Amino acid sequence: MIRSMISGLPDVNAFKGIASGFGLRREAKRHAALAGADEVSKSGVAAALCHRSPKSRSVLARERARIARAALADCHLCEHHCGVNRLAGEPGLCHAGAEARIFMAQAEVSDELELIPTFAIALSGCDLRCDFCITGGPSWNPRAGEPLSVAAAPRRREGGGDALVAARGGGAAFTGLRRGVATTLQPRRLSGLERLIRQAEQALADGARTIMILGGEPTIHLPAALEIVAALPDDAKLVWKTNAHGSAQARELLDGIFDVWLADFKFGNDACAQRLAKVPDYVRVVRENLLWANEHSELMVRHLLMPGHVECCWQPVAEWLAAELPGVKVNLRSGFWPAWHARRHKELSSPISRDETERADEIAWKYKLNLVA
Ligand code: SF4
Repeated sequence: MIRSMISGLPDVNAFKGIASGFGLRREAKRHAALAGADEVSKSGVAAALCHRSPKSRSVLARERARIARAALADCHLCEHHCGVNRLAGEPGLCHAGAEARIFMAQAEVSDELELIPTFAIALSGCDLRCDFCITGGPSWNPRAGEPLSVAAAPRRREGGGDALVAARGGGAAFTGLRRGVATTLQPRRLSGLERLIRQAEQALADGARTIMILGGEPTIHLPAALEIVAALPDDAKLVWKTNAHGSAQARELLDGIFDVWLADFKFGNDACAQRLAKVPDYVRVVRENLLWANEHSELMVRHLLMPGHVECCWQPVAEWLAAELPGVKVNLRSGFWPAWHARRHKELSSPISRDETERADEIAWKYKLNLVA
C-alpha cells in the first residue's frame, strides 16, 4: 500500500540544489523513480528534469513523513518486518514507539574527512543488537534522550498596566491585551525539533559541511527523520548514516531525500551477524541496501575491523564490494574498542592487533578498493 502511495505522488522532484557528485542521469533516474517510472531513456533525462514542476526537498520530506508515520501502524520499516502497530504502543524488536528521541546533537569531526565538520543528530534506539556497540545504552534504548516533539506551549505571566506587551521567543511573537491588563506571554518553550533545527542552522553558519542523521538506527524513526529534513534548509548537504538493514519500504520513503548514504557493512557472513548482532539474513539485506543506495545517492561504505573477524568478515565484504560496487568509497575503520557487551565474546575482548590490521590492508590492496579516511 505504501508503495502505491509513494508512486502516486504527483510530479515528484527532489531538491535541485543537490550536492556535487550527482550526475544528471542519476538525478533524472531518481526523479523518474519518484514519479513511478521504471527506466529513464536518454531523451527522458531532459523530460524528467524539465517537465515536472520542481518540488523542494522539504516539501517532499514533509509528504513522506506523513506516509511514514501512517506506516507505523503496521511497521515494516526494517527487515525484521515485525508488523506491529507502533502507533498503538505495540513493541517490535527495536522497542521503539511512535515518538522519536534524540540522545545526541552536536558538531562532530570524527567521521569521513569529506563529510566533516558535520552536525550529527543521533536518534535513540536500534533494530540491531551488536554486542560491540560503542553507544550501546542510548543506541539500544529508544527511550533515552530528549523527545523531538515536546509541546511548544507558551508560558503566560500576567501583570498590571495598559501596555500591550510583545514577547518574542523561539522565532514567534506573542502579544496579549485583556481588559486593560497587559498580558505578557513569556518566550515560549521551543519544541525539541525547533531547538534542533536552530542548532543545525547555527552549525551550518559556523562552517559545518553536512548534517548527518544517525542512531542507534535512524530507519526505525523514519517519520521523525523526515520531519527533521523537512525543517532543514533545502541546500544543506544531508548524510544518512545507517546500518543498511532497512526494508524496501523504507528505501522508497528515503528516495531523493539524502545526498549521501554512509552505510555499514559489518559482517561478511550470516553466522557472525547472528552471533554478534542477533540479526538473521544479514548479508542479503545489506547487499540489497548498498546496491540501491549506490543507484540513488552517493554511497560510502564503512567496515569496522574486528579482532578475529578479518578473514570471516572483512575478506568477503571486500571481495563483494570489489565485484559489485567497484570504485565505491570504503572506510576501513581500525579503531575497534571492546565496548558495551563485547567481552561476552572472547575474540572481541581486546583491541585489534597490528598483524590483523596489516592483513586487512593487504586484502584492501588485493581488491583495489577505493579506501577513504
Ligand atoms: S523498525 Fe524494524 S524492529 Fe522496529 S518495529 Fe519496525 S520492523 Fe520491527
